[in-house]
This record gives sequence, structure tokens and C-alpha cells, in this order.
Amino acid sequence: MADERTLLTTSAGAPIGDNQNAMTVGPRGPLLVQDYQLFEKLAHQNRERIPERVVHAKGWGAFGELTVTNDITKYTNAKLFSEVGKKTPLLIRFSTVAGEQGAADAERDVRGFSIKFYTEEGNWDIVGNNTPVFFVRDPYKFPDFIRTQKRHPKTNLRSPTAMWDFWSLSPESIHQITILMSDRGLPIGPQYMNGYGSHTFSFWNDAGERYYVKFHFKTRQGHKHYTNEEAQNVVGRSRESYQEELYGTIDRGEFPKWDFKVQIMTEAQAEAYDKFNPFDLTKVWPHAEFPLIDVGTVELNRNPENYFAEVEQAAFSPSNIVRGISFSPDKMLQARIFSYADAHRHRLGAHYEALPVNRPHSPVNHYHKDGLLRFFADNNPKDAYYEPNSFNGPTQDPRYLEPPLKVSGEAKRWDHREGNDDYMQARALFELFDEGEKERLFLNIAEAMYGIPQFIIDRQLGHFDKVHADYGAGVRKALAGVAARGGDDATQITEKKMDQMAMDQTDAAPLPNEAAE
Ligand code: NDP
Repeated sequence: MADERTLLTTSAGAPIGDNQNAMTVGPRGPLLVQDYQLFEKLAHQNRERIPERVVHAKGWGAFGELTVTNDITKYTNAKLFSEVGKKTPLLIRFSTVAGEQGAADAERDVRGFSIKFYTEEGNWDIVGNNTPVFFVRDPYKFPDFIRTQKRHPKTNLRSPTAMWDFWSLSPESIHQITILMSDRGLPIGPQYMNGYGSHTFSFWNDAGERYYVKFHFKTRQGHKHYTNEEAQNVVGRSRESYQEELYGTIDRGEFPKWDFKVQIMTEAQAEAYDKFNPFDLTKVWPHAEFPLIDVGTVELNRNPENYFAEVEQAAFSPSNIVRGISFSPDKMLQARIFSYADAHRHRLGAHYEALPVNRPHSPVNHYHKDGLLRFFADNNPKDAYYEPNSFNGPTQDPRYLEPPLKVSGEAKRWDHREGNDDYMQARALFELFDEGEKERLFLNIAEAMYGIPQFIIDRQLGHFDKVHADYGAGVRKALAGVAARGGDDATQITEKKMDQMAMDQTDAAPLPNEAAE
């Protein structure tokens, strides 16, 4: 039997005679340094981890395809939309935002919803969320917001005080807080939630016309959620409930599907629009004004063969656009164009896009050279290693030039708060909730806030009041209820006590936005 099996070798390909016993002087040791096989084995184990993502570290992924069901070629000449019935392979990675790689899946958090379309003309990535908006609209605030979701430097615990301090000082977060604390803030698995591109992007067509666009992926499995209490039981049973859900459903051949839809705004409409800034990431475009247009169906139908290679090493970046699809002036999007690709160069090395899971299914010809882990051969002619050249190297084609992005105004640090109504869309959402949804919203917020310093609670209650009088009143009542039963669950109480010990609350600094009000 033994000679029918594949031979075990060193990484250099030399067959191994014994993979069970270290080479020692006598049966009791010591080891010999020349047992290189052993050192290679240990050294590889030491290098099995790469830096985890600072955000969206915990993820679940699967492969599938997009099938186009409706003709949108008047808006875009992107090849993947060129005809009804066309199929494009894709990969989706879902994730939580705050938890580390070992964190429990069933936690209340925004979910990442990233799609890589392997199109005929390069990879197109949508690096979205299960929410149509985000907590902040200015990229300066992103690293600080993320810091509040991570661990306190002294206690090494998550800090509800930091979260609510930041949110209550950043009223633009109220719309996203309302979604996060609503039923949809804790789906039971990746297939039971919508995905959104969240930012405004643009399409352009053969006539050189640009249209602004929002991307929506509506779950066909229906929205299903856990209450906080249900989630605690799930986490007690399994920390990997999303992996079980997604892997299991695909393994059973029950392939999850989403309806892909877009909203479209012409350049002229965008310029004239005065209800809010259509490029503001804290706002949705109301469906009544900008109806959803069908595009196609997204289906997930294949589990990865190797989680690390195909999900952990999957690298999504909003900078990956293809002909017919482009950006918008959204400043959060503009910052992410830089920061996502930069994160991957740090995590995976300069050639991360040549890894099999990230490699486009279309030809790749560039003049980037060398660097750490340059593992692929040139496919340019050998003398064409710079550009322009006379040796038949790859060259540009103006058909791929997008139309000019029309922008105007003075270059300065514009106050992102000025002229923005942070409350109106949170109000529109609140008014959609039925009584049960409202009660659960109040309770989720009260449980998350109870125990943090009162001045922060009061500041945040002021924002709820501005959304709707019933919102503030409901949270106050729920806070009293949580206090009457002596707080929320033990872990959070500990976190909050630790917060209080670690933070100097006596001298709360005056707040810039309070001073302005
Ligand atoms: P519509 O009544 O036309 O649309 C309501 C939208 O809200 C639907 O997309 C629905 O998603 C979604 N929704 C329903 N319940 C919840 C919830 N608990 N959490 C998050 N989303 C929910 O209204 P408008 O377009 O005028 O928008 C009103 C509000 O709805 C917005 O202020 C925003 O908060 C929210 N919303 C709007 C979206 C948009 O793009 N216009 C997208 C998502 C939310 P579904 O169809 O899957 O049930």
C-alpha cells in the first residue's frame, strides 16, 4: 500500500524518510541542529498567520455567479452587463466589522458584503455592507470610529463608553445606529441579509454619458434575525454560526440568491438635487424618487476548497473598477480607493492581485516589477520592460478612457456638518418600524448604553429626541427598565465598570459641536 501513496517531501522536494521521530543523540536526546526537516516544519508553523484585517477580520466566503436579467446597456458599457442572460463568475466575502478573527459570528454589528466580479475586462469589486449607509461621511473620522469599535488600550476590552462617546459627538451616525440597533443589526446568517454598495458610484456608456448609481442586493431568502437573547444562546453553542450557515447551505445544494438592482441619477439631477448631498454616505436615495431597476441575480453555489487561500487571502478594493463603471465625488469612497489596496499590500504583499483567488480571469499585462514574492513570469516580450517601448509591449487604448468627472468648487476643508440634516432619514426609517420593531430597537439601545457615563447617555438621548420624540422617550423608558432589572448581561457590566475605572470622566472636555450649537 505504502508505495501507492504520494511521497512526503521537504519544501525543496526531497523525499522524507521519517516524519515521526526527531534526530537525537541517543534515545533521550538532545536534538541535532542538522534535523532540518524538523526546523522547516516548526518554521512553517510559525509563519502560518498573516496580519489579520484591522477591520472586517472575521469573514465567510463562497463563489458563485451573476446572471443578467435586464438590459441596462443605456447606462453602462461594462462588459458584464452587455447582454441579458450573460453570466459572470464572482466571489463574495461576508464579515463582521469589529471582531477579531476568533470573534463569535452572531454579534450585533454591521456586516461586510464584498463582491469580486471576475469580468472579461478585469475584476470589479464592490466592497459594501449589509447597510445602505455608514456611521461617518468624512474619511478623517474613519480611523477614529474604528478605534471606538476595537479594544480599550488599558483594559483590552471593547468599550461601550468609547462607542457612545464617539457616536454622540458625531450626529451623522444616527441613521446607521438606528439600523444597527434594529432587527437587521443581527441577521442569523449571511444569506438572510441585503447587500449594498453604500457609496454612490457611476456608470458610463459608449456615448460618453455618466450616470450616478447605487447598488442593491436584495436577499431572496428573506430577512431573518436574532434578538440579543437568542444570539447569546447561539454564541454559547457555536461561535461559528455564520460559517455553519453559509457552508452548510451551499454544501446541501440550497444555493442562496440575491436580486441585483440599481438606482440611477443623471448628472443633471445630481447637480440640481438640493434635499441632501447625493454623495453623502450617511444618506440613501429614496426609492420613490429613484426607483430600483432590475439588473440580475447573484447566486452562491460553490464553497471554497481552502479557506485561507480563497477567503483569508481574498482582497477586495473599491479601486477595482472596469470600463463602464467608475467613482463619484463621495469623499469616503475616494479615501477607500487608496486605503483598501494599501491594506492588501501590507497584509499580502505587493503582488497580492496575482494570487489565484484575486487573479483576474482576463489577461493581465503590466510593467510592475519585482518586489517581495514576485512569483509570476513576465508575459510581456522580453525587451519590453518599460513604457513606451519599440518592442511590442502592452500599450494603452483610448477606448477605455472614461468621460470627465464634472466637479466644481473651491478646494478647502469644507465642514462636512454644515447644511446637513442628520436626522431626517433616521426618522423615515423609524417611521417604517412597527411597534414591535420599535420596542426591540429601544431595548437593544438601552442594553448597549446602560452603565456608561450619564453625560454621554444624555447627549445621545438628545439625538434620539431630534429624530422623533417617540424615539427618545422609548429609549428613556427602556433604560429605566434595564436599570430596574439591575443591568444587562454580566459581560457588558464588567466591560462598563472597567471603562469607568480606566477613563477619567471628571474632566470631560467641551465638545466642538456642542460649542457650535
Ligand atoms: P421605502 O419604503 O421605499 O424603502 C424602505 C427600505 O427600507 C427598503 O429598502 C427596505 O428593505 C428597508 N428596510 C425595511 N426595514 C428595515 C430595517 N429594519 N432596517 C433597515 N432597512 C429596512 O423608503 P425610502 O426609500 O424612502 O427610505 C426610507 C428609509 O428606509 C430610509 O431613510 C432608510 O433608512 C431605509 N432604507 C432605504 C433604502 C434606500 O435605498 N432607499 C435602502 C435600505 C433602507 P427591503 O426592501 O429589503 O425590505
